[in-house]
Amino acid sequence: MAKLIDGKAIAAEIREEVKAEAMALREKGIVPKLAVILVGDDPASVVYANSKKKAAEKVGIDFELFNMAGTTPEAEVIALIEKLNNDKSVHGIMVELPLPDHISKEKVMEAVNPLKDVDGVHPVNRGYILSGQEGLFPATPQSCVEIMLRSGVELKGKHAVIVGRGETVGKPLVFLLLKHNPTITICHSRTPDLGYHTRQADIVIAAVGKANMIKADMIKPGAVVVDAGINEVEGGITGDVDFEAVKEVAGAITPVPGGVGSLTTAILFKNVLLGVKLQQQQ
Ligand code: NDP
Repeated sequence: MAKLIDGKAIAAEIREEVKAEAMALREKGIVPKLAVILVGDDPASVVYANSKKKAAEKVGIDFELFNMAGTTPEAEVIALIEKLNNDKSVHGIMVELPLPDHISKEKVMEAVNPLKDVDGVHPVNRGYILSGQEGLFPATPQSCVEIMLRSGVELKGKHAVIVGRGETVGKPLVFLLLKHNPTITICHSRTPDLGYHTRQADIVIAAVGKANMIKADMIKPGAVVVDAGINEVEGGITGDVDFEAVKEVAGAITPVPGGVGSLTTAILFKNVLLGVKLQQQQ
């Protein structure tokens, strides 16, 4: 039976570190602030943004939500981003996705100052991931790495198989993980016989978006299984891994909920503090 990796406990540990750092900045007169832009009035997104606001304020980060109507022209969204780029009291800018169809995601992402791009979506930050330079990187792939490091998973020399090469999780994860010296295989929808690859892995990281697709017979006994998937199912959410069966085979496993997803907001706040540092260095 696998060791259960407790994402909630690890997230609480990261939030404590963020709080200590945010308080130290406040003592120096710097109040870290995150601005979130939400275009549209999807009630679930508004609830989610408000829960992020509560979490931010608990760790000493100011939070302002800009909720624009779903019909707002693209130019107006970009004008707000430019205003926030020039506002020295704002250290992080995050635009909630998806955006309405009449707004170009690429134009909006490129409008954010890379030093305030706490979602790590600006092409400059995506380049820094490749070059290994310091930058702001997306929270979920960072969470996948952090949850392993903080639970004592050895990465050096191990064979990690990443399932999924999406822009949000799988692709940036390759480069964040590579810094820790595993050998990496990347699988995707055109990979024939996925199980052939995952069965060879010391570490399997699933980032696909298909409920319970990673089965017990696809896992080497004792392997570490990290599940970044979030799939809505009747009665809640589930991951990409068939948790109940895989936990009988794996050596360690992250649950959904309570695993990788628990870390993402805490890591986002870490990015706000890194933004403060990068902006000070300017
Ligand atoms: P994308 O939809 O961008 O990418 C999915 C990837 O899965 C693609 O590379 C696709 O391959 C691959 N894939 C699809 N079907 C299969 C298959 N049968 N076998 C192998 N690979 C397959 O997803 P994201 O990167 O945006 O997100 C991945 C998952 O992470 C989702 O479940 C999402 O909900 C979750 N997520 C979790 C977050 C968190 O906070 N924990 C935050 C953000 C995302 P191909 O490239 O060939 O199409």
